[in-house]
Amino acid sequence: MTKKSRNKKRLSIWGSTGSIGSQALEVVRQYPDQFQIVVLTSHSRAAELWEQAREFSPERVVLTGNTDSAWFSRFRELELNLETGPDALIEAASRGEEDQVVNGLVGAAGLKSTIKAIEKGTAIALANKEVLVMAGRLVNRLLKKYRTELIPIDSEHSAIYQCLRGEPAGFIRRLILTASGGPFRNRPLTGLADVTVEEALSHPNWNMGPKITVDSATMFNKALEIIEAHWLFGVQPSQIEVVIHPQSILHSMVEFVDGSLKAQLSVPDMRVPIAYALSCPDRRNLPFGSLDLTKIHHLELIPPDFERFPALKLAYDVIEAGGTAPVVLNGADEVAVQAFLERRIRFTQIAECIQKALDLHTVRSDPDYEEIIEADRWARETVRGFMRLNI
Ligand code: NAD
Ligand code: MG
Repeated sequence: MTKKSRNKKRLSIWGSTGSIGSQALEVVRQYPDQFQIVVLTSHSRAAELWEQAREFSPERVVLTGNTDSAWFSRFRELELNLETGPDALIEAASRGEEDQVVNGLVGAAGLKSTIKAIEKGTAIALANKEVLVMAGRLVNRLLKKYRTELIPIDSEHSAIYQCLRGEPAGFIRRLILTASGGPFRNRPLTGLADVTVEEALSHPNWNMGPKITVDSATMFNKALEIIEAHWLFGVQPSQIEVVIHPQSILHSMVEFVDGSLKAQLSVPDMRVPIAYALSCPDRRNLPFGSLDLTKIHHLELIPPDFERFPALKLAYDVIEAGGTAPVVLNGADEVAVQAFLERRIRFTQIAECIQKALDLHTVRSDPDYEEIIEADRWARETVRGFMRLNI
């Protein structure tokens, strides 16, 4: 293996076979002289990971899920060691061999490795919002202690991050998160219980992994993003508003105390916030299109319907409750979404399961890592219990 040049940014992409991970690799492909791939990871899809490894020549590859042993020799053909199992990801994070990690993992699985990377001072480009939802206070404490930088990839949070650059702290009046409203924004409320998996998976504007696509349809994605914004930008829940913006062009806004609003707009393409997180404060000259403002006749901004989307109120409730409450919202959502995708529960039961789990939960304030993991386990087991008992 050739020794890589140090003037390139050394980058690891966790979840490289997913929607965010593969788009991060598309950005890297545009700038081969800027980035060197150190680690690629995937849970399954070994063949896709192998193709990526052949193209990007990482130093390590990690498959966290079950692996057919034939893949060990296939990866050795590329002069690469294949490391397997969930601990392999945590070990890769603990080595701190890269300058920056793109965390494109989905769900709670990314928490431990993110903490390890922060402790190594590795900058984090974070798409995996569940990390902040579950452990925002703990992560912020560690970021400060280890002086590690975390840059959001989520388009709304990237927009706010960009709007806040150069602004002194303390002048935010409110953050306005935009939401597409998903495919069921206008469907009669009585029809929501009969939504099919196929309908929930057809997002009008974004092509994303299945979990976040269902979360967009229920607006639990926006609930997670309200919590994410609370921890990223240090604002109170009363300072975070959501507005439905079906075109997904205006990615979010900041209102300052003098009434001035700043917004960030672009074509709805996740490669734009990914490239920003990899290059900030510089910007890359991206060939992914630009907005033709003469063709945009209007940008709609509509207040959200809290009855249609119970997720929104739950987000504010769990921030108020604090401690392990957001952990339970997140864990319950993961299990409920999976059950919906497996056609075991109805679309509207996703929110019902989460509400019921929150009602049963005794909140533990300022949880440490073990308490977070225990609350997550409890939430999952509780929701599985509802399903077993059919309640
Ligand atoms: P995805 O399902 O397309 O990809 C997830 C990746 O994580 C895959 O590579 C998969 O192999 C890996 N993975 C899954 N389970 C794992 C486990 N248990 N352990 C280790 N690796 C595992 O998901 P996505 O749409 O790319 O979303 C990733 C994250 O980014 C989510 O938190 C999502 O909310 C957030 N996000 C996604 C988008 C988007 O456009 N896709 C936009 C904003 C934020
Ligand atoms: Mg988003």
